[in-house]
Amino acid sequence: MKRRKVCILHVGGTIAMVWSEQGYVPRAGYVEEYLRAMEELSRPDLPDWELVRLDPLKDSADFTPEDWVRIARAVRDRADDYDGFVILHGTDTMAYTASALSYLLVGIQKPIILTGAQLPLSEVRSDGREHLITSLILAGTVHVPEVCIYFGARLLRGNRAQKVHNASFIAFDSGNYPPLATVGVNIAVRNRLIRTPKERPVGLTNLERRPEVVAMQVFPGMTERGLRRVLEEPVEGVVLETYGAGTFPASNKRLIRAIEEAIQRGVVIVNCSQCHSGQVQQELYGTGAALARAGVVSGHDMTPEAALTKLYCLLASGATPEETRRRMVEDIAGEITLEQTVPAPPL
Ligand code: ASP
Repeated sequence: MKRRKVCILHVGGTIAMVWSEQGYVPRAGYVEEYLRAMEELSRPDLPDWELVRLDPLKDSADFTPEDWVRIARAVRDRADDYDGFVILHGTDTMAYTASALSYLLVGIQKPIILTGAQLPLSEVRSDGREHLITSLILAGTVHVPEVCIYFGARLLRGNRAQKVHNASFIAFDSGNYPPLATVGVNIAVRNRLIRTPKERPVGLTNLERRPEVVAMQVFPGMTERGLRRVLEEPVEGVVLETYGAGTFPASNKRLIRAIEEAIQRGVVIVNCSQCHSGQVQQELYGTGAALARAGVVSGHDMTPEAALTKLYCLLASGATPEETRRRMVEDIAGEITLEQTVPAPPL
């Protein structure tokens, strides 16, 4: 049987960093050298692999939507040449890139696995080594036609994942969707959780514009002045990170008025919860229902990362505010659960 072939796309992150006077910084060439010295990477029980470095290597804190597009293009251009992709990426914004790629690469029905490390390969206790080897195995052998994150012995759907720890080796979690696979002595893949590709997928491939999209966390004592500043032109999309089941300080009518006015101007505002698990139910409390009445779109159980990148990609692909509002609550790449929940108390 022909050995499968995986492309390792190296875009930066801690995994490739070395210590310097400015703290950890990426060093071009380090990963190449390291991989050459890893004898297990040439064993026949691993897929064949090739490394492609996308310069400049960056700390993912510096990533912008241009980088999502740059990575998506690199995958798309090589999609026919490989059975899967492993993307070496920083952990800080990995959940954003994974979400964006899930929309930009709909239709590429191959494993696209982002991974990285909490400790660089240049450190003796690096977690990057196992992440790299297991990601290669997963990308080369398992049928997961999705954008995923492999980290801390779990394969997570990329647009469901969030970075939840900045020091533990279990840095990611997906509070609203179970892991697609868990990795111990055996690799246990939960096939029923893996997305079955749609026949006619509707992805977002053409990002023609660079819309201004922002995220804003609701907090006790937020002022009308602060809120209006965030909603000012040229903002086109806002992820409003609310409390609990989607609540907001709605008894301050000036805040609601500011939101209504922005929506009337065409700003798309999406309600996502600050909670890591559970879903937004705007109608459950009066303090959330006021947002629904003002025209805020429910983000259901999407993570703020998945919602922000979706909003960005939709607006950037030229969707009108109306289309954007509609598509925000469509399932594009498994980022949202559309099943109905029975409200408590029943309506
Ligand atoms: N600051 C690093 C980055 O996101 C952190 C990491 O990779 O773990 O690139």
